[in-house]
Amino acid sequence: MVETLSIAVIGAPGVGKTSIIRQFIYNDFSEVYTPTRTRYVYRPSVILNGIMYELKILDVPPISSFPSSSSQEWLDLRCRGVRNANAYILVYDICCVESFEYVKMIRQQIVEHREGSSTEVPILVVGNKRDLQRQRFMPRRAVSVLVKKTWKCGYVECSAKFNWHVVLLFKELLGIAVSRGMRQNHTAIRLQGALQRNRCTIM
Ligand code: GDP
Ligand code: MG
Repeated sequence: MVETLSIAVIGAPGVGKTSIIRQFIYNDFSEVYTPTRTRYVYRPSVILNGIMYELKILDVPPISSFPSSSSQEWLDLRCRGVRNANAYILVYDICCVESFEYVKMIRQQIVEHREGSSTEVPILVVGNKRDLQRQRFMPRRAVSVLVKKTWKCGYVECSAKFNWHVVLLFKELLGIAVSRGMRQNHTAIRLQGALQRNRCTIM
């Protein structure tokens, strides 16, 4: 049976969430900003270490906070499926300190509001727009240390625009998810290229 892993992608408006997802699945990027107004679900398949996983990637539209209860989640269509996602990608723009503050708040709320063993849920913080790094508000190393050591989350920087580290970030997250219980499999993860464009990525 193929395992399904649901991943919620959350971040402030305009940080590049949709761009990252669309680069990963379709190898597509648009300079034109089209704000995501409703929740959108992508369902690509990936192969990691020879095992196929079906991903359910939730492109979450702007939400003021992480849903604190199941009823809140149920009432707000934008956050359906966010509370019980198997993993989170929290995206910020490396040039926008406010977007980092937003990620900080959401990370805290995930830890506080998720049911069960909240510390176990894989969270990957992603600094997007790396191509604009001359305008970054904080050195990479300082953010990385804060996120990894203090928050105990993974950290990757990428550029959705140039498709740089986009596959890597999904690979990183899946690696954490797999090592935390989906499957005990620590062998080297190798990227072998796309099996079938738009559908399945071998990682
Ligand atoms: P979302 O609101 O978080 O889903 O953001 P979008 O994916 O819609 O992107 C917002 C804007 O940022 C768009 O105009 C994109 O073209 C642009 N953008 C996204 N990723 C990058 C990136 O890596 N570098 C640069 N320079 N622009 C980006
Ligand atoms: Mg969007």
